[in-house]
Amino acid sequence: MSESHTEHVIIIGSGPAAWTAAIYAARANLMPLVFEGEPVGTELPGGQLMLTTDIENFPGFPEPISGPELMERMKAQAVHHGARVVSELVRTVDFSQRPFTIVPNYAAPVTAHTVIIATGAAAKWIGLENELRLAQAGGGVSACAVCDGAMPFYRNKRLIVVGGGDTAMEEAMYLTKFASEVVIIHRRDSFRASKVMANRVLAHPKVRVVWNARVTDVLGDDFITGVRLEDSVTGDVHALVAGGLFVAIGHTPNTKFLGGQLETTEHGYIKVASWRTATNIDGVFAAGDVIDDYYRQAITSAGTGCMAALEAERWLAHHGIGESPVLDTAETTVGTAGTVSHH
Ligand code: NAP
Repeated sequence: MSESHTEHVIIIGSGPAAWTAAIYAARANLMPLVFEGEPVGTELPGGQLMLTTDIENFPGFPEPISGPELMERMKAQAVHHGARVVSELVRTVDFSQRPFTIVPNYAAPVTAHTVIIATGAAAKWIGLENELRLAQAGGGVSACAVCDGAMPFYRNKRLIVVGGGDTAMEEAMYLTKFASEVVIIHRRDSFRASKVMANRVLAHPKVRVVWNARVTDVLGDDFITGVRLEDSVTGDVHALVAGGLFVAIGHTPNTKFLGGQLETTEHGYIKVASWRTATNIDGVFAAGDVIDDYYRQAITSAGTGCMAALEAERWLAHHGIGESPVLDTAETTVGTAGTVSHH
């Protein structure tokens, strides 16, 4: 592929980080190319916000806005400013030489001077065959109580939450609104969740905890009827009748397609420089939940997406590519964000 066909910036992802990066890069005349992905199993382009109902903490929206609508509006804003969108997953990347090569699922490979990775994270599943089958079929198994818990078929049933972290506490609390009983199944004898959240849940009259237990099977053909549990101390196995299962055991960053080319943290999140989005490969930036297991908010993702676009823009300017007048004036690695005023 000739140099003239090399993209300035390719953005991989479709959540708040990706669209914010696309808005900034488009406004900088970089004509970003966004690979927004495609629906696969329980994952959708738009990321985890596609599975969220009302968002009440994204600044600028005094009335709640739905996750899908917020994503649609961010995407529309990016496209309006000139971002081009390909609705395909990226299969592999080659960062070993410049320009970088991006290989999508179906279209021809594309090369780029800079790449912004904003592929987010996906909810973890226990990994049982029936769990995944029922989750994909809408059979009463979910990884997001806030998205699905209000469905009529969960009303006045016993609902199970698996996990012992803050997410499990939040989901259990939310489900008490609909369930006749919420049973939290945890593999150990104490929660990892913050004391405040754990105590609130433990004090709720509708919540019961089964400690030291593992879900070993999910029962039911078209819809869940219960789970099989194994007590990890006594080895005792028994079935528990339930009308819904909510798996809340954490998230995994979506980095598989990178084939280990970028440095990651011990939990698999892409490593970036302090208060920056630069990865260990010069010209490759990362933003959003794929770098963040701490804040994981729409607004923080959007913020790091903005940072990645500005860094990509500066990188291009530094290398004499593109029209940007932005100069890389940053001297330190901390506290220099927000100094750009050319827009
Ligand atoms: P997490 O803190 O990593 O907790 C995951 C839980 O799932 C742990 O209790 C873990 O058990 C359990 N688990 C993991 N793999 C399992 C498996 N294969 N089978 C059964 N159980 C399994 O994840 P999280 O709850 O999603 O929270 C992630 C981060 O977001 C945390 O920093 C949390 O504080 C934050 N968060 C905050 C809020 C809030 O403040 N409102 C809400 C949600 C999340 P072990 O304990 O035995 O490891």
